Amino acid sequence: RGRRARTRIFLPHLVAAMEEVEETYIMVKPDGVQRGLVGEIISRFEKKGFLLKGLKLFQCPKELAEEHYKDLKGKPFFPKLIDYVTSGPVVCMAWEGVGVVASARKLIGATNPLQAEPGTIRGDLAVQMGRNVVHGSDSPENGKREIALWFKEGELCSWVPIQAPWLRE
Ligand code: ADP
Repeated sequence: RGRRARTRIFLPHLVAAMEEVEETYIMVKPDGVQRGLVGEIISRFEKKGFLLKGLKLFQCPKELAEEHYKDLKGKPFFPKLIDYVTSGPVVCMAWEGVGVVASARKLIGATNPLQAEPGTIRGDLAVQMGRNVVHGSDSPENGKREIALWFKEGELCSWVPIQAPWLRE
């Protein structure tokens, strides 16, 4: 009896944890904007079935780029990375969904575009690490942190797309 009762309590809890909705910060970097890849990149996340919550074209100030990439501050490529990300407008996006953080990283592909699988954004559209067209948060915590960093209150929308029941049962 005790065992059955425990199962009933435990299983729904597990399912709820697995279904947790996440947010990720996706950004088309200046090379992606310059090369006319904005629509193509947005389209991949849109078609997959994630929910777009925020979107803007934005010229990133140096301080924001440094804060965004603060974990890479000691790396030899850091100054070039900051120059790269601030070299022209970027497209900032907030996407929501169950499992969106890891899935977006898969859709984006490996950091080095030459190692990125065909079918991924970097695998299909880029050839060099310093021009890898897109950014995606690497954890749910960083997803939240980066969205708060790049978007102001009032720039994000909560909405239910009409296709919702056709995406998830
Ligand atoms: P990712 O963007 O895939 O999460 P990282 O967080 O490790 O990768 O690095 C952030 C960005 O810094 C990369 O997307 C890339 O533009 C740049 N970068 C990383 N490593 C190098 C490197 N060795 N040389 C030049 N640029 C790099």
